[in-house]
Amino acid sequence: MVEHSPSILAFLKQLQRVPYLASKNIYVVAQYFLDLDDQATEKFVRVLRDLKQKVEKCTICWTWKECQKECAFCTSPRRDAQTICVVETWRDLIAIEKTGGYLGRYHVLGGALCPLDGVGPDDLTIKQLITRIDECKELIFAFNQTPEGEATAAFISSKLKDKELKITCLARGLPVGSSLEAMDRLTVYKALSERRVF
Ligand SMILES: [Zn+2]
Repeated sequence: MVEHSPSILAFLKQLQRVPYLASKNIYVVAQYFLDLDDQATEKFVRVLRDLKQKVEKCTICWTWKECQKECAFCTSPRRDAQTICVVETWRDLIAIEKTGGYLGRYHVLGGALCPLDGVGPDDLTIKQLITRIDECKELIFAFNQTPEGEATAAFISSKLKDKELKITCLARGLPVGSSLEAMDRLTVYKALSERRVF
């Protein structure tokens, strides 16, 4: 058994910390790495190190970007600076980008309000969002259809009630409890293009 190999045991322990790697799957993943030749192992380690060293969060929209480059979402002249789509996570941004139907800017909150888990307004980039909306005409809430998503939308809109700003949210009809990243492209596209006033 693996107890005899402290190295394998230590590796399995790391894999267990990776989200979505169920306890059954960690052996499949461990087997993959055990079978890698030296060259492929080197490459994997190098790519992971590069990822950690060369990628950072944009301090305007809070999505990931290359340290040496400008953020493509915040600087592209093809993107409408007056529309900001607010999402919980980077993964939700990807779900919207995949529709190919959105050409505004983004703001990644870093999660949703969840007092039970200790996530309050200061844990998210809500303050940063409020400081950047003066140039914005429409704010789209593209949150997951969960109580946390609803609470986050209500909280942000309460902070903006004195601003002259159109606030919209995704169309009704999305499954309750669903996350954007789990939905198919067409559903996300429809929810976005048929958005309603919040
Ligand atoms: Zn950006």
